[in-house]
Amino acid sequence: GAHRTLSVQAFPYGDDHKLVLSHDITDLEKTDAMRRDFVANVSHELKTPLTVLSGFLETVRELKLAPAERERYLDIMAQQSQRMQHIVDDLLVLAKIEGQSKPPADVAVDVPALIATLRDDAFALSAGKHRIEVDIDPSLTLLGNAQELSSAFGNLISNAIRYTPQGGLIRIGWHTVEQKAAFVVTDSGIGIPAEHVPRLTERFYRVDSSRSRDTGGTGLGLAIVKHVLQRHNARLQIESTEGRGSTFSAVFPSARVRQATPRPALADA
Ligand code: ADP
Repeated sequence: GAHRTLSVQAFPYGDDHKLVLSHDITDLEKTDAMRRDFVANVSHELKTPLTVLSGFLETVRELKLAPAERERYLDIMAQQSQRMQHIVDDLLVLAKIEGQSKPPADVAVDVPALIATLRDDAFALSAGKHRIEVDIDPSLTLLGNAQELSSAFGNLISNAIRYTPQGGLIRIGWHTVEQKAAFVVTDSGIGIPAEHVPRLTERFYRVDSSRSRDTGGTGLGLAIVKHVLQRHNARLQIESTEGRGSTFSAVFPSARVRQATPRPALADA
């Protein structure tokens, strides 16, 4: 558009310059478009609960309501403000992680302890509705940032619970796989149609918006997971079968893996 014309005039030195420049500008326009999209998405995500909240606020203020009804409306208002709170919290986490130019410090993170805490959160979130199995290598630690890892692993676990119907099975694993370390969450839940899988880590991308919202989702969980894993040179693997369940694995390179209490070496045969 207008930018491109202007810039090309500023460099009237030949086609090479024009070509390089217009390429850069196109990138800028893309970033700009992404930013606009993001702002539009955030606004939309916040506007819905805000509309509900202000609607009920008006009602409670204007109408003479029976105490029970008033209570019910206040509950809805609390729910909506909590939803906005979650979105803003996740946005801040994402902004903090994305704003960091340096990779996380190489501090040994006690991942088994971290997972033990997350397991307690998982039991609370599931409220007895699922069977939750945890299988971790207690000696396996990782170089990285504990807070970021906790946020990433926590999101994978809460997703497994939120997208698995009552009575389902959630398995949480932490072990070495060929010198690498893998954090694996498997669920027997609703699964994901294959065509959606490549887009899951995009901000606010959801397979089913109402299911996401009804279970307290912000649409930002996997975007956070992706960024944290990128910063730890780790890979996210997603395997899923619609109607059968999903497995999300975070695979960390051997350079980040530490075995806290070395196991006895195997005797040579
Ligand atoms: P949300 O807050 O909506 O859960 P996420 O970024 O965590 O946002 O996930 C994006 C979408 O990926 C979800 O809306 C859901 O459709 C899908 N998804 C994530 N984890 C699972 C899972 N374990 N099983 C089925 N679908 C999942």
